[in-house]
Amino acid sequence: MSEIFKLLPPVHDLQAHSRFKALQTGDVTSARLTEWTRAELESLRQQVREHPNTFKKDRAHFTDVILTKLEERVAAWLSPHIHKVINATGTVLHTNLGRARLSESAVHAVTKAAKHYTDLEYDIETGERGSRHQIIEERVKEVTGAEAAMVVNNNAAAVYLVLKALAQDKAVAVSRGELVEIGGSFRVSSIMEESGASLVEVGTTNKTHLYDYKQAVENGAQMIMKVHTSNFVISGFTATVDSQELASLKEQDEGLIIYEDLGSGVLFDFSDEGIGKEPTVPDALAPGVDLVTFSGDKLLGGPQAGIIAGKKKWIDQLKKHQLARVLRVDKMTLAALDATLKMYAGSKELIEQLPVVRDVVASVEDIERKAAYFMKHFSTKWKMELLDGFSQVGGGTMPEVSLPTKLVQVIPPDQKIEKFSTWLRKKGEPCIITRRNEEGLSLDFRTVTVEEIEEIILRFQTYENELRHQAE
Ligand SMILES: *Cc1c(COP(=O)(O)O)cnc(C)c1O
Repeated sequence: MSEIFKLLPPVHDLQAHSRFKALQTGDVTSARLTEWTRAELESLRQQVREHPNTFKKDRAHFTDVILTKLEERVAAWLSPHIHKVINATGTVLHTNLGRARLSESAVHAVTKAAKHYTDLEYDIETGERGSRHQIIEERVKEVTGAEAAMVVNNNAAAVYLVLKALAQDKAVAVSRGELVEIGGSFRVSSIMEESGASLVEVGTTNKTHLYDYKQAVENGAQMIMKVHTSNFVISGFTATVDSQELASLKEQDEGLIIYEDLGSGVLFDFSDEGIGKEPTVPDALAPGVDLVTFSGDKLLGGPQAGIIAGKKKWIDQLKKHQLARVLRVDKMTLAALDATLKMYAGSKELIEQLPVVRDVVASVEDIERKAAYFMKHFSTKWKMELLDGFSQVGGGTMPEVSLPTKLVQVIPPDQKIEKFSTWLRKKGEPCIITRRNEEGLSLDFRTVTVEEIEEIILRFQTYENELRHQAE
């Protein structure tokens, strides 16, 4: 046993190796590399101890094993830790893939804000201190029709701020049909508890009536919270009360706050295109509704943010709350959101240039054109078939909507679908995420841009070349 350990290369031998030297760059100092070398040697020693028979008893072999490990480590260390991913699943708002892609103008605005000093809290008119709220408020008011607005870190933060600032130690009525859980860790009941507001459940899972809310208000509820059931549908024998109807309860109690958590923040009426029935923000801000909150990076198609819009009286209180400082957004988010909202102030054509909107409304013909262009680059070694299918909007929105699409079903030349899909994900850049099903792997070009098609073609060709080299 001890004989085999003698075959492990000493650190100074490795340091003298040309492959080791090639790894030393300005970013990877020799001290760092030496530390990694010691760690890799230690881990190899451990492996040899546990499985001595899996190694060739040869110094050159061990040297190669260590150097390969080091090369992998250096490559991983040098590569950014957020990787570009091509989303060929067709799911537009893929939460795991970072939700919305920004528009070109939003990207430009972010870069500019990041690179330069800005008037984030400086009033250019007067030369005095300004407010970061003001920067974005006008824009939100313009596109939503709200009286006032503010922006925080995400919609969960927006909900929390509203409850904490306006309903702590107060009773908040929520329909039992709307006590939702969104994407793993956001539960209306938990966030309510965290905020110190006390939840008063009204109605039943499938039916809640105006008189249910009325009773809660009579019993002292000071806020009614409506929660958009973003990620599921209840069908059949159901009844809900919309926030406009709820406003009638204000006759009974003037101080009553009507608040709706919308989730997605739709500013483009997808239902006009025959897609879903998501309420738009301006519609939700009906007379009598005090506040609405929504995400910046769901169907709105902007950066991660939570937008609170509604009555000035309440927004002013929210802005003054200590938490507003805790939950505030940075200049890059504000820049991206500003540029995104500006597009909504423009024409329908402009709005359809927002990647999220563009991808949701994309026609089957558009998608088929991209798919056909892609397929014509491959010989019959690849089995490719164009199939009808459906894409999801995703991100916990429009759960009942299936968008008709065209899928390219692929079987690679070596017919090893699992291996190929792993290779697309892990080997080389950019990482390509595809759909997997029993028959194979398929690509939905709904969420793939024209430039990305070229990148996918290149990666597929690389795979074919690797197969050829292996065969030779
Ligand atoms: C998505 C969603 C949230 C959470 O929003 P984030 O921006 O992800 O924090 C809250 N409420 C509803 C109804 C949602 O759909």
